[in-house]
Amino acid sequence: MTPLGLRRTVIAGGLGIALLCFGAGRAAQPDPDHHETLYVFGTLVELVIHGAEDSAAREASAEVGALFQTLHRDWHAWEAGELGELNAAIAEGGAFRTDARLADLLREGAALSCLSGGRFDPAIGALVALWGFHEDSPPEGEMPDAAAVAALAARAPRMSDLRFDGDTVGSVNPAVQLDLGGYAKGAALDLAGALLQARGIGDAVLNAGGDVNVIGSHGDRAWRVAIRDPFVWGAVGAISLAPGEVLYTSGNYERFFEHDGARFAHIIDPRSGWPVQEIVSVSVLDTDGSRADAAATALSVAGRHEWPQVAADMGVDSVLMIADDGTMLATPAMIARLEPAAGGFPQAVEIVQLPPPSAGARCAED
Ligand code: ADP
Ligand code: MG
Repeated sequence: MTPLGLRRTVIAGGLGIALLCFGAGRAAQPDPDHHETLYVFGTLVELVIHGAEDSAAREASAEVGALFQTLHRDWHAWEAGELGELNAAIAEGGAFRTDARLADLLREGAALSCLSGGRFDPAIGALVALWGFHEDSPPEGEMPDAAAVAALAARAPRMSDLRFDGDTVGSVNPAVQLDLGGYAKGAALDLAGALLQARGIGDAVLNAGGDVNVIGSHGDRAWRVAIRDPFVWGAVGAISLAPGEVLYTSGNYERFFEHDGARFAHIIDPRSGWPVQEIVSVSVLDTDGSRADAAATALSVAGRHEWPQVAADMGVDSVLMIADDGTMLATPAMIARLEPAAGGFPQAVEIVQLPPPSAGARCAED
């Protein structure tokens, strides 16, 4: 087994926030931006609101903070809450009445999972737990027993096992344990963005450690967001995000299981039960946070040969993938938007055309 065979040193830490930049030449005036640091699902979220009255910005920020607290409680994979109650019911072969927001999120997750060909599948919570990722700190110690991993993978927990009766959710497979970590951040930022807009905030950015949703612009400039270099402290490039755009990166450099000096990523292939290898970073530029987040996870699982088909099937066309040997692959739509960091890209970027979608028709009417 070759775990993430990193040939260059991988850095950790929340560079995403530090790298959010607002373009050149800030005027020497009072900062017109309202800054707030919020917290959801173990991640700090930086909210910047531009050009709003101070009181309006404060009130809107407080509402977003309260929303994140609710979502953290309702959607958390291992702390007590609504999702935990649903998981307990499923394990006993029963069903649980969720609120409409969670039922909708699960339906969306099932649809995204189908489009990904099962590479994104939030039903694999028991596997994620077995690998030790249901802790706030990175797992340590012994590897999970390979036979236990294989046995759990063989029970094939899948989103397609879920059954919906309105907002009442059950599963035909008691091995299903829901862990929304692959797309909950995106869904949470989407809800927060909609809330800000409903409160009359026209220009804002939500940045969860490099996963970013943009509302409007930063005055007469676009919000500019950097994509982190997974190997050295710095950025591979930056993108000016248009109003309504989102940029999500799944990285294997922050949360991993380390054993005998080898690293195992927190993204798991639902089919084998083993963490993904070879891909260290996938960035997706899109207009929907939950889809971009799910796609970044799915494309990490798909790996360097299968990802173009999966991207086409999931309906995302702007993708940057960085493999463990430093290879950079990008779609034409991504390379058209990605401005290299000073000094150019760390490697020549290989352009990859996406094929026509194949799975779309099969999953359309979920
Ligand atoms: P990040 O949290 O770094 O943005 P991801 O969006 O890729 O990374 O989410 C990884 C999380 O998603 C894991 O911690 C786990 O909770 C969950 N997960 C792992 N593998 C999968 C998978 N194949 N499909 C869906 N969710 C997954
Ligand atoms: Mg994701």
